[in-house]
Amino acid sequence: MKIVIANWKMNLLSQEAAAFCQAFKAGYTPKAGCEAGIAPPATLLHQVSALLAGSSVQVYAQNAYFEPKGAFTGEISMSQVKDAGCHGVILGHSERRHIFGETDENLVKKLKSAWECELMPVLCIGETLTQRDAGFTLDVLHKQLEVLKVTGPGPLVLAYEPVWAIGTGRVAEPVQIEEVHAFIHDELWHLWHDRGLDIPIQYGGSVTPENFDGILAVPFVSGGLVGGASLDPAKFQKLIGQAQATV
Ligand code: PEP
Repeated sequence: MKIVIANWKMNLLSQEAAAFCQAFKAGYTPKAGCEAGIAPPATLLHQVSALLAGSSVQVYAQNAYFEPKGAFTGEISMSQVKDAGCHGVILGHSERRHIFGETDENLVKKLKSAWECELMPVLCIGETLTQRDAGFTLDVLHKQLEVLKVTGPGPLVLAYEPVWAIGTGRVAEPVQIEEVHAFIHDELWHLWHDRGLDIPIQYGGSVTPENFDGILAVPFVSGGLVGGASLDPAKFQKLIGQAQATV
C-alpha cells in the first residue's frame, strides 16, 4: 500500500483551500493500493472535508490533544478532529517536537486517544543534523519508536522525516533513506511482530516531483509526507500519480 499526504502546515485561507480542492479534484483519479490525504490547518478541516467528500481523498489534522474535552484553551480534541470529518491525525511532526516541545510521553497518550476516536495516526520520527553527524541516527529513531512499545499495536502510518531535510530543499540520499527504512521495518517487527510489518513507512523531507521517483524506488518506502510541494495542486497530483505508478 502506498500513501501520499499533503501537510499544508500553517498555510492557506479558506478561499485558497477551496480553489486548491477544486483544481485538485478535477485532475485526481483514485487507484486501488494508493491512498491520498490532505492535512490542512485546524480552521480548514471542516471545509476541506466537505469539499473532498466522495473523492476518496482523506483529511488529516496536523495535531490534536489527548484529553477528550475540558479546560485546554487553544487545543482541539481527537473527537473534534473526527467530528470535523477527518480520517486521521499527524502526530509528533518535528515542528511540534522542536518548536512546541511535543514529548514522547504525550505521544503515547495521543496515539491511544486517536485510536479511541477511530482516527488513523501518522507518527513522525526523525533525527536532527547534529544527531546524524554524531552518528546517533538509529539510536534516536529507536528511542522515538519506543512509544509503540508502550501503546502496543494499533492502526498506524509511520513517517520518517529527517529534520534536516524538512523545508530545506535538502533531500536525503536514497542510500540514507534505505538504511533508515530497513531499520524501521526491523524495529516494527520487533515491536509488534506481524502487525508491525503492515505499517506503511512514508518518507518526508523536501519531496518534489523531481526526486520522488527515486525515493519511491527505495525498499520499504510506502509513499510520502509532503510539505512545500503539496501546496500546488498540480504538483501534488503529480506526486500521487508517481506513487500510483508503483502499485
Ligand atoms: C513536512 O511538512 O512534513 C515536510 C516534509 O515538509 P517539506 O516537504 O516542505 O520538507
